[in-house]
Amino acid sequence: MSGKTDEHAETEECEKEKESECEADWKIWTDALEEMSEIEDAFEVDSENKLHGKTILDVGTDCVKPLYLALKYEPVRVIGINEDFSIYPFEADLKQKSRLFVDTEIEFYDCSFLDDTKLERTVGEQSFDFVLVSKTLHHLRTGECVAEEHDPKHTCRRGDEKCCIYKFEEKEIFERLFRYGKRVIIYEAFYPHEEDNDKVRGRGGYFTREEWKQTFEHLAGKYKVGFVRPEPFLLDKETLDRIDSILRKVDYICFYAEKQL
Ligand SMILES: [Zn+2]
Repeated sequence: MSGKTDEHAETEECEKEKESECEADWKIWTDALEEMSEIEDAFEVDSENKLHGKTILDVGTDCVKPLYLALKYEPVRVIGINEDFSIYPFEADLKQKSRLFVDTEIEFYDCSFLDDTKLERTVGEQSFDFVLVSKTLHHLRTGECVAEEHDPKHTCRRGDEKCCIYKFEEKEIFERLFRYGKRVIIYEAFYPHEEDNDKVRGRGGYFTREEWKQTFEHLAGKYKVGFVRPEPFLLDKETLDRIDSILRKVDYICFYAEKQL
């Protein structure tokens, strides 16, 4: 009798687990699509379907956006790179099966955007029409540890880099992004006082207002920068002072940057 009850409890447990797994899978899809309307505006998809026949490099891909873009706009190729596909277990399936119903070539590679050798092997000399960086820019930290600015008591403990936050080097990173594409599209959540849960060693940690200001100072004038959200405007030396008040009000921003002709 008790065996049966145990069995029953086990089945219930198992079903609950399955349900929560299902919820987690579903959440990956809804999370991935929630910022699509902003990103579509940054692609300017409304003007003559700018994406048709184009190529996109999706840095830090969630695998869902490439499929969505392929179905809706028919770009010719979308390559997604990520350092860890373990939270996207449908990656291989999606790559394979999408061939049955989209003409777009969708490829995913386990590769860091910061790993030159691997990136060259994967992407080669290709230049893309668009480089999409959604919720990933704050992971592209390559400098020295700046965690002391957040916590004066911080010490860089060897082997426990989870505590560190590396400096974001805007000049190098944007140069690198423009090496791969003509228009760079950035979507970033902005919670400077919250902990970044997907921080990998010292890489990650939401941008501070100061880091954003520095980044936009660098971009304004050097590149054509179009804000999409929270409000559309072109960023230049004159409009640069709008950044501060924007960052006080919103928790996400979306913009594109292009090389000036
Ligand atoms: Zn440190």
